[in-house]
Amino acid sequence: MKPLIDAFTNLIARIRGLNYIDEATLKEVLREIQRILLRADVSADVVSSITKTIEERFRQERPPEGVTSKEFLVYLLYQELVKALGGEGAPSVDITKRPYKLMLIGVEGSGKTTTAAKLARFYIRRNLRVGLIETDVYRPGAYYQLKQLAGKVNALFYGEENSRDPLSILRHGLEYMQRNKVDLVIIDTAGRHRNEEELLKEARAIYDEAKPDEVMLVIDATIGRQAAAQTEAFMRYVPINSVFLTKMDSTAKAGGALTSVIKSGARIKFIGVGEDVDEIEVFDANKFVSRLLGMGDLEALIEKIRAVEEEREIMEEIEEGKLNLLTIKKQLDSMMKLGPLSKIMELLPTSMLPIQYRAIMTDEERMSNAQEMLRRWRHILDSMTKEELLNPEIINASRIRRIAKGAGVTPKDVKELLNYYQLMKRMINQIKKSRRRLGRLIGE
Ligand code: GDP
Ligand code: MG
Repeated sequence: MKPLIDAFTNLIARIRGLNYIDEATLKEVLREIQRILLRADVSADVVSSITKTIEERFRQERPPEGVTSKEFLVYLLYQELVKALGGEGAPSVDITKRPYKLMLIGVEGSGKTTTAAKLARFYIRRNLRVGLIETDVYRPGAYYQLKQLAGKVNALFYGEENSRDPLSILRHGLEYMQRNKVDLVIIDTAGRHRNEEELLKEARAIYDEAKPDEVMLVIDATIGRQAAAQTEAFMRYVPINSVFLTKMDSTAKAGGALTSVIKSGARIKFIGVGEDVDEIEVFDANKFVSRLLGMGDLEALIEKIRAVEEEREIMEEIEEGKLNLLTIKKQLDSMMKLGPLSKIMELLPTSMLPIQYRAIMTDEERMSNAQEMLRRWRHILDSMTKEELLNPEIINASRIRRIAKGAGVTPKDVKELLNYYQLMKRMINQIKKSRRRLGRLIGE
């Protein structure tokens, strides 16, 4: 993964260093993105669809206010990579019932046994009782390997050293786990067989016997884009609910492994980033791409663009007349994030604002003062109940005292905020009225 991160962070630095983005530099940047992705073993069609979309969007969409075209290009790259990696949001890793049976399958050496221990540790840390069952009777030492790992992570273990019958081990193991009131049972399976056909058949037999709540396919990321063919082969025999990609730490082909698994329709839940039992991560496309492109800078940019988008939503709410203290709360957040860039501040006629606000817009030096007040208001809003936020009219003197105490401010500060709310409300009503008048005038 390191070469991929280096290549992308270099590219971002280069984009940042450009004076502006003309036709020729855009083409060059797109070509460089293609080179990086192809080197990471991403398939040509996925690469070209990513860069085509970036190009189209860059030409058609306008960057949000306050965002330069260079930043916007980086943002588009970020968004399209996230999309190619399965989209926004981390997968749910919750255990939805007790006991929950999780079956691991995959070819020999993909990392199943190690992964079983990693998952056990992950869920034990979430306060579950976890049990491991070893059904691999082919690989010499599999029994001891998992038994030892189970001891390391404090999981229960069941295996039969001398048995040759995976199904009977499984039955005994499930009984054992049931007796011991385990919340999560992880079933490790064999990966070595005379041929693929036999491996898949045994996986199917174990599946039928265990009736697992989840089948997790373990794939070695070093095989790159071949991961898709492997996923599809397993899918023909057993329904695959999730994928665990191992050895992400030691391959230059991580990009190919990720995108090809996703294209095959499977959901990547975890990635393995080292041999140790702690080296497991929930796969989150957003976080992953942030890391690829160089976290710090990018986060600030994404935050900025999100804030601009959020603000547009708040404006819409305000225009629809849905004003309460929750709106004000969102509004303050957005002002604090965007500072002088805030559209909402432009919306407010200066003369109607409390003195501090006028300062924000006219006097740079008093900005920090105003920020201080915004923060105080934010504390006040945090001390209010949901009911009070949605329905500020219920806030009486005793509630004001309680809120002030909770926020560590004076009741006067709370009143100041409530005055601001009343002011906003009057202002919006006036705007609405004048719009109606205007509407009548032009014969709407
Ligand atoms: P199995 O045959 O599928 O059960 O695979 P094993 O769990 O025995 O693992 C095979 C090899 O891969 C071992 O040497 C593991 O230490 C190694 N391995 C597993 N996961 C990872 C990982 O995320 N990163 C690295 N670098 N090695 C891993
Ligand atoms: Mg194994």
